Amino acid sequence: MKILVAIKQVPDKNARLQLDESGTRIVETDLSWETNESDRYAVETALRLREAAGEGEVVVVTLGPERARKAISSALAMGADRGIHLVDPDFQGGDPLCVARALAAVAQAEEAPLVLCGTRADDDGYAETPILLAGLLDRPAVFLTMGVEQVDGGLRVVRELEASRQEVSEIPLPAVLGIQSGIHEVRFTSLKGIMAAKKKPVGQPTPTELGLSADRIGKAGRRLEVLSLAPPEKKSQCEFIEGKPEEIAATLVDKLRREAKVL
Ligand SMILES: Cc1cc2nc3c(=O)[nH]c(=O)nc-3n(C[C@H](O)[C@H](O)[C@H](O)COP(=O)(O)OP(=O)(O)OC[C@H]3O[C@@H](n4cnc5c(N)ncnc54)[C@H](O)[C@@H]3O)c2cc1C
Repeated sequence: MKILVAIKQVPDKNARLQLDESGTRIVETDLSWETNESDRYAVETALRLREAAGEGEVVVVTLGPERARKAISSALAMGADRGIHLVDPDFQGGDPLCVARALAAVAQAEEAPLVLCGTRADDDGYAETPILLAGLLDRPAVFLTMGVEQVDGGLRVVRELEASRQEVSEIPLPAVLGIQSGIHEVRFTSLKGIMAAKKKPVGQPTPTELGLSADRIGKAGRRLEVLSLAPPEKKSQCEFIEGKPEEIAATLVDKLRREAKVL
């Protein structure tokens, strides 16, 4: 089975983010980047499904500028077979629906019965691209997936719900799954894998080649406008506790227990 995995490159979790002059986007210069966490789990899941079946192909796709090629290289080094980089400028600057349209066009062109996504991008965090993608492809979809195996006629999928409850369901193929972080242990990348990745093909289809008109994708196609973006307001609270040392200590212990709830 061919499995398409959508991976996004996001700023490193420890990166110091700064807003640009418009106050709607982060400044990208001098940032370090990594593959979105749940997308790495999606790649791992695809590789395990291919290994369990003993056949198949894992193709990773990312929409993003030149720098996003690194996310593809990392997935190829883990063991994915092929990459697709939607790097054409017309793809960039869109909202989640534009991204989903581009990914849906790739899924159709590739005729991939299974598309895996992460659950949520750690930067923009819309958590809607896979849902829109499933809708555009008119496919059944399961999100927050914590287990998946191929069974006769489709997939058996496990979802983790509140209070550690698990829901097990079966869906036919073709389908879309949103993979939750922690589903499996993600494999380490070996030096051999990194060397092998250099020889694996990475296609760069244009919107025209995917049958997409420029006004449906990227900046030209977006209908969602971000008005402002701001860091959380820092509310520093400082309270002086007055009294004798033993009174101060008692009050402090009481506050730590009742208000801060750290004792
Ligand atoms: C007005 C506006 C302008 C924007 N301009 C830019 C811009 O210039 N540059 C920019 O990088 N972003 C831009 N964005 C953000 C961009 O729209 C989102 O990154 C995108 O819509 C996906 O949403 P998300 O990142 O929250 O992903 P989610 O919906 O949270 O993603 C869930 C999953 O979908 C898949 N996925 C999401 N994005 C991609 C991707 N790019 N490639 C492959 N798989 C993916 C992954 O599997 C991911 O785990 C803009 C958004 C708006 C609203």
